[in-house]
Amino acid sequence: MKTHSERPESNLFYQSRQRRPMLDRAEGIYLYDRDGNAYLDGSSGAMVSNIGHSNPNVLAAMKRQMDKATFGYRLHFENEPAELLATKTASYMPDGMDRVFFVSGGSEAVESCIKLARQYALATGQEKRWKVISRTPSYHGATMGALALTGMNSMTDPFEPMLRMMPKIPAPTCYLDRDNLTLEQRGTRYADILEDRIEQEGPESVLAFIVEPIGGASTGALVPPDTYLPRIREICDKYGILLIYDEVMTGAGRTGKFLGGDHWPTARPDIMALSKGFAAGYAPLGAMVAHRRLVEPVLDSGGFVHGYTYAGNPLACAAGLAVLAEVERQDLVSRAEVMGAKLKAELTGLMDRYPFIGDVRGRGMLLAFELVADRETMEPLPKEMNAFTELVEEAYRRKLIIYARRTRGGVIGDHFLVCPPLIIDQDQVGELMEKLTGALDAFADKAGL
Ligand code: PLP
Repeated sequence: MKTHSERPESNLFYQSRQRRPMLDRAEGIYLYDRDGNAYLDGSSGAMVSNIGHSNPNVLAAMKRQMDKATFGYRLHFENEPAELLATKTASYMPDGMDRVFFVSGGSEAVESCIKLARQYALATGQEKRWKVISRTPSYHGATMGALALTGMNSMTDPFEPMLRMMPKIPAPTCYLDRDNLTLEQRGTRYADILEDRIEQEGPESVLAFIVEPIGGASTGALVPPDTYLPRIREICDKYGILLIYDEVMTGAGRTGKFLGGDHWPTARPDIMALSKGFAAGYAPLGAMVAHRRLVEPVLDSGGFVHGYTYAGNPLACAAGLAVLAEVERQDLVSRAEVMGAKLKAELTGLMDRYPFIGDVRGRGMLLAFELVADRETMEPLPKEMNAFTELVEEAYRRKLIIYARRTRGGVIGDHFLVCPPLIIDQDQVGELMEKLTGALDAFADKAGL
């Protein structure tokens, strides 16, 4: 069997020429390459593998479905896994949010949210509304529609002029502010920027506002002040604007509640995008969940003009059902809260040892730390230092996977997501921290910090 170093030039390509070892198998919180090396999955891939790898109950459920049918086109057949998963998904939702539309990933889920909102506006005589306001930084997906909502220059610049770039407001990066306001006041102030922007755009042209209730990779687990989302909801209501929660990363338990938005129960969205932990990497699956108040007029007005070939795929839905059953059986939502608090305390402890860690943040098991040149001013490390790649590589050398971003042109510098599967135990947290400390020491040495 060939190892990664012996492989001939590949026909396969992704973002760059970088090659990684060939994956052989995965189990629990570890992935193994063909040389038998074990890697601790400190970021659940891209915050996906919430229930860990190779869960036997999920694999068994998928095999049972595989023996029956792996595909049946939605125009020709209903399928039971899709039906059951829609019911299960609706059971986690606030009242009325009980219409579920399946897709194959996060970008498709976000596209579906925009298209439902647009069709709802049409069906209800609001055809002038088309703008979807979002935030900087934010990430909502790779497809051209979702990209127009994404507030991250590094992702959008290569595609300028965009098909139609959408208006943005700043995310509530309160930890960077040096004013005398309380956190609650800052939350309201950041939310009020939405109202200013709506007025500026012309309220009659604004269709929706999309937001990750707790920021993902673009912001590094940015948790808004408690006043933020309730005020956003108020503003959306005032102007008749739909509120879309992008729960692609925060959904399915990662933040210590089933939905990221459940931390602020008075601020409920109208439409929601789910993916990642929803099927936890066992199948490409996502969902748009919408309030019936929106879906009914669209269906009455001739139907939802939207759909994907793999929507409601029976195998993917069987995987999703089995994943949610495991989330419940192992009580992984509470576990994310408890183990997340422990891991966050450990990460916060690193600030005593490394003055270049400027902030540790997040909720549940959606955690991140940010590196800075100066903790007082939160000035980012120089770009040339390439901290976000250097530290990730030091960790990788120690067989620890973490996930990094630097929001070029934005206010947030190099940040690192530490988001292991929710099944991680205390000893494994210790192992993760040991590897991370080794990587930080090596990075500091090299960078002269
Ligand atoms: N929305 C958020 C918040 C995400 O984090 C992501 C992916 O990282 C997406 C949307 C896009 O999901 P996908 O990569 O599955 O298309």
